[in-house]
Amino acid sequence: MMNFIERDPRPHSDELAIANLKQAFSAQKKDFLDNPTPSLASRLELLGALATMMLDNRYKIQQALAADFGSHPTQFADMVECLGVAGRVQYVADNLAEWMKQQARPIEPALYGTAKAYIQPQPKGVVGNMAPWNFPFDIGFGPIVEMLAAGNRAILKPSDLAPACSELMLEMVRTTFAPEHVAAVAGGLDLSKAFCSLEWDHLMYTGSTQVGRSIAVAAAQNLVPVTLELGGKCPALIAADGLTPAAVEQIIGCKTIKSGQMCVTVDYVLMPMAARDRFVEMVQKLFANNLPDYSCHKDNTGIINERHLDRLLGYLADARAKGATVLEIGGEVERSTRHMPFYLVLDVTNDMELMRNEIFGPILPIVTYESLDKAISYINHYERPLGVYIFSESRQVIDQVLDRTVSGGACVNSAALHAAVPSLPFGGVGKSGIGRHHGYEGFIEFSNMRSIVERGSKDLVNAMFAPYGETANALIAGALAQ
Ligand code: NAD
Repeated sequence: MMNFIERDPRPHSDELAIANLKQAFSAQKKDFLDNPTPSLASRLELLGALATMMLDNRYKIQQALAADFGSHPTQFADMVECLGVAGRVQYVADNLAEWMKQQARPIEPALYGTAKAYIQPQPKGVVGNMAPWNFPFDIGFGPIVEMLAAGNRAILKPSDLAPACSELMLEMVRTTFAPEHVAAVAGGLDLSKAFCSLEWDHLMYTGSTQVGRSIAVAAAQNLVPVTLELGGKCPALIAADGLTPAAVEQIIGCKTIKSGQMCVTVDYVLMPMAARDRFVEMVQKLFANNLPDYSCHKDNTGIINERHLDRLLGYLADARAKGATVLEIGGEVERSTRHMPFYLVLDVTNDMELMRNEIFGPILPIVTYESLDKAISYINHYERPLGVYIFSESRQVIDQVLDRTVSGGACVNSAALHAAVPSLPFGGVGKSGIGRHHGYEGFIEFSNMRSIVERGSKDLVNAMFAPYGETANALIAGALAQ
């Protein structure tokens, strides 16, 4: 269904990049064998270096994003791509000593005597991170925070669709880390295929569901465990009491972040038919007041490339041809800068391309519903998304939507915020992803949660060995009597 596969347009081979990848991979495997359990102090040192690297490169990060997207707001680059990663380091560093501790588990003294049972988080080893173009630094370096916190070595492969960001990320890694701790490689499809075919101790991929499937197949050849952060259609559901200026501000504010090129953006909005015209008026007023020149505004992020711009314009042409009303707000398409205005699409049907695919752009279809039941069924007829966003003041409505839908995360009276909170795990479910990063769950994701028993004395464990005699009979009788 998703259609994000990009052919690398450059006539180069990835041979050198693949050779560099293999060299870094071997060096990291060796380093891991030499020191499989780095101390808290050495992990904190690497995390500190990562945070400093983000802050030191703040202006270069802004410039690289602007170069790749044509235009990219500097404050947003600061907040998410730079300070967001540094903040993630802070949260993890503050909690790491606690997370690394053994976790005692109960063990039956009648059978096991004085034995101890506990879990000891252990580094997995060498972990790969395949990052997308839409949040190159946030998703390139963010998961590396938890990978390093868990004591791993890490290799990053940034996306070939954001070459300026990719080049900067390679430079940042090269000048900050020893390659046996953290390395980065860049290239096209051949490199990408070689990357996911290595015998990683864990592999993380962020991108479309379609490519995610190929990554999972490649990883399965080596039984490599994966974290897949994929896509989907995240709905915003406005309940009968939910249409307020604040709700409109949250939905439109979220959808305009990176011009909708965000995995947790609002893909479409559901509302009662009676609310539709008022919603349209409120959106138009919001743009007129805050962003009248939205299309050419400095805070409008450009579409990543011509192909994606054409894909989005194609969705609009298809919707018009199938009877939708398309409202263009805040200017016109500017091809030279790949700026798009904002679009509301009314009278949508399920056969339209924009309802069959994840939109990933500044187009918001409005789907109307007759009852909350039908709205919930509509959400559930799609694959499980990364987020469901509910707008209502009614506890009963909120609980009903939360209880009857399944998604990676959810927000009440907001959208996408669940992805921004460092203490919350982030990930998908079903076709929107496997596994979690961020926070403690991210630490666990990249750790081997090793179960350990230390035998003591006064136990009956030998009853489990042949020949089975009186002690085994007594144990069985005791268990049956309970
Ligand atoms: P994409 O999946 O199209 O990725 C393209 C990349 O995959 C390219 O680098 C390409 O070289 C590589 N590739 C293509 N085929 C391959 C194969 N068979 N084997 C190995 N590599 C292959 O995605 P994209 O365009 O980079 O990103 C957009 C998608 O990412 C959207 O669906 C979005 O929702 C999703 N996304 C998800 C999250 C999340 O956290 N869940 C975050 C950001 C983006």
